[in-house]
Amino acid sequence: MTTKDSAADFSIAGELSVLADGIIGFLDKHAPPDAVSRWRQNGVVDREVWRSAGAAGLLCPSMPSEYGGAGGDFRHEAMILRQLMLRGLDGWGIPLHNGIVAPYILHYGTEEQRIRWLPRLADGTLVGAIAMTEPGAGSDLQGIRCKAVKEGGFYRISGTKTFITNGQTADLIIVVCKTDPDAGSRGISLLVVETAQLEGFRRGRNLHKLGMEIGDTSELFFDDVRVPTSNLLGEVEGQGFAQLMRQLPRERLLIAHECMAIIDYALELTLAYVRERQAFGKALIEFQNTSFVLAGAKTEATVTKVFVDHCTQLLLDGALDAAMASMAKLNSSETACHIVDECLQLHGGYGYMNECPIAQLYKDVRVKRIYGGTSEIMKLLIARAL
Ligand SMILES: Cc1cc2nc3c(=O)[nH]c(=O)nc-3n(C[C@H](O)[C@H](O)[C@H](O)COP(=O)(O)OP(=O)(O)OC[C@H]3O[C@@H](n4cnc5c(N)ncnc54)[C@H](O)[C@@H]3O)c2cc1C
Repeated sequence: MTTKDSAADFSIAGELSVLADGIIGFLDKHAPPDAVSRWRQNGVVDREVWRSAGAAGLLCPSMPSEYGGAGGDFRHEAMILRQLMLRGLDGWGIPLHNGIVAPYILHYGTEEQRIRWLPRLADGTLVGAIAMTEPGAGSDLQGIRCKAVKEGGFYRISGTKTFITNGQTADLIIVVCKTDPDAGSRGISLLVVETAQLEGFRRGRNLHKLGMEIGDTSELFFDDVRVPTSNLLGEVEGQGFAQLMRQLPRERLLIAHECMAIIDYALELTLAYVRERQAFGKALIEFQNTSFVLAGAKTEATVTKVFVDHCTQLLLDGALDAAMASMAKLNSSETACHIVDECLQLHGGYGYMNECPIAQLYKDVRVKRIYGGTSEIMKLLIARAL
């Protein structure tokens, strides 16, 4: 590593540490425990907190400043996500807003579209969502049925989406549609839908989830919804599938970062517990089984982190491919589920009580093997590259 590289590393580390302190301060003020338990009960984070997050610079940190962002990169998004996870705020859809929705618009939008949407995503005027999954199609994205038919200067969208993060809150939704049902993957396009006073658009139930209860996850209904053709992301129809395939590695790496934060939080909680809790006249940590389980977990965590960091560097260099991103997601999510399970076991019966933070992590972590592409789909993608 050259001296210049070291200086750059030092500077980004300092910047990320300042950002972490800023987020901690923000969460102390805007996410006190009583607010979080209300959000958990309501299944949604208060809308005005999104605006405060925008004002505090926590939305769109990696967007260029000319579009209202903070001019950072993926590492800034990952730090925001990490601090949310370390507070047990898994489910608040900021990582998706920052790390998925905004980058689609930046990378595939026209200049007019970037100017139209990014500043409002950055200041929290708009909350973003992306709607791929349908009741009949999740892993098999080519099997979606939602269609968009062009008519003059408009598209008419009809279809149903489900499991959509930020579904109750979102004001801007990237909808995956078929613009040519006979053209297979080349018939898929991404349409940006602004929901305000939009005729034919309806939000379904806020779905009750096993975990991540503070975030809203919903069905969405599009019944002959009219959007201008200028809302087609990029200007050419049929690019949607390729756009998705190019962005999904980024989404999967974000989930890997979520898993790393969950692992660190689980280990921190568990170490504190086993140092305190006594059985047979000594602290649990003094049993060899306890220390061996934690030593094994720490080893798995460290090995996982090294690979996730490697993939992060590949992403920053523009070289993260589908197989590597899939390996990062597969390994980190399976490892996180395993470690959280072991950590819960070390908490004994208390670990099974909902009031215990490890119980919350146990519920939250399970979906990491499912959303953003299941572990089985990750294996398919890795196998294809063998
Ligand atoms: C909390 C949560 C939030 C979500 N947020 C969003 C969101 O914001 N936007 C969005 O679009 N979607 C979202 N999703 C949807 C998520 O991405 C899908 O649930 C996921 O991709 C799996 O699709 P599916 O549920 O239809 O399962 P299916 O595709 O029906 O899969 C069922 C099972 O079959 C297996 N399987 C499927 N195909 C194969 C195969 N070829 N080989 C081997 N096994 C296979 C799967 O691995 C799985 O085990 C979210 C889901 C959850 C739970």
